[in-house]
Amino acid sequence: MELRYKSTRGGQSDVSASQAILQGLALDGGLFVPERIPTLDVSLGELSAMSYQEIAYEVMKLFLTDFTAEELRHCIACAYDDKFDTEVIAPLVKAKGAYYLELFHGATIAFKDMALSILPHLMTTAAKKNGVKNEIVILTATSGDTGKAAMAGFADVPGTRIVVFYPKDGVSPIQEKQMVTQKGDNTLVVGIHGNFDDAQSGVKAIFGDAKLHETLSKAGFQFSSANSINIGRLVPQIVYYVYAYVKLLENGELSEGEKIHVVVPTGNFGNILAAYYAKQMGVPVEKLICASNENKVLYDFFRTGQYDRNRPFILTSSPSMDILISSNLERLLYLIAEGDAGKDAELMQALSSEGKYEITEEMKEKLSDFRGYYATEEETARTIDQVYRDTGYVMDTHTAVAACAYTKYKEETKDGTKTVIASTASPYKFTRSVMEAIDGEQYGSLGDFELIDELSKISGTKVPNAIEEIRTAPVRHRTVCKKEDMKAVVLGFLGVE
Ligand SMILES: *Cc1c(COP(=O)(O)O)cnc(C)c1O
Repeated sequence: MELRYKSTRGGQSDVSASQAILQGLALDGGLFVPERIPTLDVSLGELSAMSYQEIAYEVMKLFLTDFTAEELRHCIACAYDDKFDTEVIAPLVKAKGAYYLELFHGATIAFKDMALSILPHLMTTAAKKNGVKNEIVILTATSGDTGKAAMAGFADVPGTRIVVFYPKDGVSPIQEKQMVTQKGDNTLVVGIHGNFDDAQSGVKAIFGDAKLHETLSKAGFQFSSANSINIGRLVPQIVYYVYAYVKLLENGELSEGEKIHVVVPTGNFGNILAAYYAKQMGVPVEKLICASNENKVLYDFFRTGQYDRNRPFILTSSPSMDILISSNLERLLYLIAEGDAGKDAELMQALSSEGKYEITEEMKEKLSDFRGYYATEEETARTIDQVYRDTGYVMDTHTAVAACAYTKYKEETKDGTKTVIASTASPYKFTRSVMEAIDGEQYGSLGDFELIDELSKISGTKVPNAIEEIRTAPVRHRTVCKKEDMKAVVLGFLGVE
């Protein structure tokens, strides 16, 4: 049976999966959601014997119902290949009483690779299926990791161009170097004077500009998105939660039907939403622990039911989570409002005009699967240091926020349920913060690449290719603009007046 998609705000419905992926954002500014969340049609026991790629097929076929089996298998095979430095794609590492699900073994060493390795293939397949003749222009706002991962996927893909906007002073040195050295004639990287929310709002405004769409269409272009507002990002992210559960089952770490908790370091709410979808599909997940850094809007939201972005934007050592407007929360609101698109539209209107909203009591009750915790900068650093000293395992700053949240949860509840922590980036991507957490005084004076070699020494791990590549790579992108000028920069790149 075909699964159709509709907008969370009610303005668009009966859309196929491939159209939803092509379009990115719905015409009314809402996010595409499936009419229902499908349940797994293969048992967890059967799935446990499968490879990552086979599990990806079993999950994604249920959502992307207008892709043929052959198309989908082809996309999966092209995505999850030797771009990943391990055959298992997403290894589970046991450390200090939790299972770290390492989602950073792809081309750009952050979890964004899990979905962005496949999105370009889904997108070009969708374009073919829908007879699209226009060139597709991917517009992306990034808090540091999405941009590079999206460009790694879309660079030199025929029929596409990609523009990435990042906060000029809001990403790690390695993240910035990864982006500005990006190759590919169809790529453009732009630093903006502003934060991630500015970049994301700017991109959403360009998407919402109907007149611009018309102008571009005449010039042979159409926009789409590589941000997690695209349903083509969310669906591939469900896969690794299914995978993690069935592999723990296969290894005898879990018994049949045993529930787990999942802890996710959260920014735009895409990754944790994928875990929630996995739960709805039938994976025995009990609690979803949403971990925030000092930009703790989500922590406050889960405690009070009020979402309030009116607060200072804090630059932290986990920049990919420096976000005050978590776009994917809209998909959760839609679910807990039981598909009431009017309610969703009303809350989003309040968010845009007043910067805040409050959900109803009935909606609050439906959030009982979630728990919010946050970690301060100091707690994050201490977590990295402690886990390293106790186990030798070195984690990145984002993962440390999650590990700290989990410690707080356990202290508060004494709950010993087995727990998977989403490990979202390689420590090599945030080397300075990681090394300073381990020994600030000794490492403070070293350069970025010297620190990388030190990290390799103390962790006994090999420097990833993604880092070796940028050691000597020339800078190719120097554009910096004001947030008001984002549209002009895009038009300039496309050569459209
Ligand atoms: C993007 C990102 C996050 C946040 O994920 P969301 O899906 O936006 O909540 C966390 N950690 C890292 C390393 C990331 O790149």
